[in-house]
Amino acid sequence: MKRKSFLYLIIFTGIFVIFVLCLFANVAKPNLPDTGTETATGIEAETDAGAETEVATGTGIGVDTDIEVDTGSESMESLETTGTIEPLVPGDIISNAVLEAKGIDNLFYSTEISPEIQNRIAGVSYQENDTIALSELRYIRVLYYGFDGETHIGELIVNQKIEADILEIMKELYENQYPIEKMVLIDEYGADDEDSMADNNTSAFNYRSINGSTKLSKHSLGLAIDINPRYNPCVRTKDGELSVEPANGNAYTDRTQEFPYKINENDLCYRLFTAHGFTWGGSWNSLKDYQHFEKDI
Ligand SMILES: [Zn+2]
Repeated sequence: MKRKSFLYLIIFTGIFVIFVLCLFANVAKPNLPDTGTETATGIEAETDAGAETEVATGTGIGVDTDIEVDTGSESMESLETTGTIEPLVPGDIISNAVLEAKGIDNLFYSTEISPEIQNRIAGVSYQENDTIALSELRYIRVLYYGFDGETHIGELIVNQKIEADILEIMKELYENQYPIEKMVLIDEYGADDEDSMADNNTSAFNYRSINGSTKLSKHSLGLAIDINPRYNPCVRTKDGELSVEPANGNAYTDRTQEFPYKINENDLCYRLFTAHGFTWGGSWNSLKDYQHFEKDI
């Protein structure tokens, strides 16, 4: 019996040891993969996070750099080759980064009337005529300081005889932060002078007669420009009644009043245009055209 008991004890102990070993093994087994998974997950997570951060940072920097470099180089190329900056649309706000990349001087320029511009103006502001040829006109791109305090791209069409004047004056106005609200071709208003003026759009060339007359306006020759027209309306007495163009400029006919954007003889516009040999419509006696400057050439 003693021997048998001893044997049972051995067997029992053996089973117990095996059981305990199995238990350890079982406890250890799930732990091992768990630890492994955790570690792996941790590494993955870290790697992912790292990768994401790197990718994000990389992409961010890459894109920014690419955009700046590309835009810069494209603009420089296009400036060198064609003298145009097509990606910038008139009216667009120009950021300081783009200003620096392109250089302010490069954003004031003129070109001949390209086929693209011709398509925009033919039959709209430009009519077939014997007075002014397209070859005598120039398309001008400038910067202007908007009413919103931002730098905008502006466009004008003028006679080649005043293109240098206009470029110089516009640059002075911009550098002195002279506020101008809009500056797109009058063709954006179907060459309708009243619509353009009512929208306070600054514009120059428009083949049309003087309002209320059959005589061609100086705008027909690209030798006149209207600045902030809504705040500087054209005022005349017609049949004993006051006529105001644009009609929504009615509040700005009393020039003894102080209000923003008013052109008078102390105004920078007035001083610059007259210094360049232009006459001001506000000096006329027959009518007062406060928005208007023209040059007799
Ligand atoms: Zn005018």
